[in-house]
Amino acid sequence: MNRQNYFHVMLDQRAKKNVPLAQHTTFRVGGSADWFMSVRQLDELIQVIQRARETQMPIRILGNGSNILVRDGGVRGLVIENHCEGFTLDVINAQHALLRAESGAALPGLANRFARAGWAGLEWGIGVPGTIGGAVVGNAGAHHTSIADCITQVTIVNAENEICTLPKTELALDYRHSRFKNNRAEIILSAEFELTRDEPQNSIARMNAYTEHRRRTQPTEASVGSIFKNPPGQFAGQLIERAGMKGMRVGNIQVSEAHANFFVNRGGGTARQVLELIDQVRARVAEKFGVALELEIEIVGED
Ligand SMILES: Cc1cc2nc3c(=O)[nH]c(=O)nc-3n(C[C@H](O)[C@H](O)[C@H](O)COP(=O)(O)OP(=O)(O)OC[C@H]3O[C@@H](n4cnc5c(N)ncnc54)[C@H](O)[C@@H]3O)c2cc1C
Repeated sequence: MNRQNYFHVMLDQRAKKNVPLAQHTTFRVGGSADWFMSVRQLDELIQVIQRARETQMPIRILGNGSNILVRDGGVRGLVIENHCEGFTLDVINAQHALLRAESGAALPGLANRFARAGWAGLEWGIGVPGTIGGAVVGNAGAHHTSIADCITQVTIVNAENEICTLPKTELALDYRHSRFKNNRAEIILSAEFELTRDEPQNSIARMNAYTEHRRRTQPTEASVGSIFKNPPGQFAGQLIERAGMKGMRVGNIQVSEAHANFFVNRGGGTARQVLELIDQVRARVAEKFGVALELEIEIVGED
């Protein structure tokens, strides 16, 4: 059997065909993946990536789907849902430890677990509902902290199908940006973070305050977090609210009443409706304030 046939036999056995991605994203919007599989082991993830590339099968890694809008026509090729969740903690001394987490591990779960064990540094991520891989790609952040403040290095599969480790200085981390945003061929396998000692009750108090702040200020309906980046020195949510667009609706997608930079899916919303609402909000904010809002979310797939 040649490589191409071998890969298709593997897909037939382990992947599903035409899987609606709305079920795998927090926005509950979008079309289907041609092929879809969940992967739990890192060596399996590496093998699938390498084989797919050898057979020219397009791939897209999905974390928790909390920062993407999938277009209604879906995604061609293979979508790999990353559930590689292993981690190790290497205690350097009484004050410092290195956490090495596989890229499918949930950021809030790690934050909570290590804060309670007396290792601080990820508490800001308690309410960021994504995986480590997704968090590194977007340099996720909250409460004046971000991935850039605690990461030391990442291990990836590069475009040549080799496994290599990149130090933080090569990640081009910036506000909701990393080198991976412009380079989809690099897949993050794991990341390493520096944690510091703190009393668990201090970390737990911080996490409780962050959670309480979100509860007061953010919607609970299906969403994809902030739609737009904050322009320098301003808040996108405030601009949208001052433009009179809070509560504005296209079909089943609505600018949240709780936080104007969140759009919520009132049930059965489509990507087309989201894109139409994005256009309307951008046009109104540009007209009223002369500000061009940039997307924080990523749009994937076909119309
Ligand atoms: C209610 C809510 C609140 C939120 N609050 C915040 C917040 O406070 N701060 C913030 O920064 N974000 C926030 N977000 C957005 C989102 O949770 C983060 O951006 C999160 O880090 C995305 O992770 P994910 O695993 O869901 O990524 P996904 O949406 O699954 O993927 C995002 C992109 O990364 C790529 N990707 C994922 N894993 C890998 C990998 N291993 N290798 C290469 N590429 C990969 C995907 O292909 C895709 O292009 C919020 C979202 C919601 C729904």
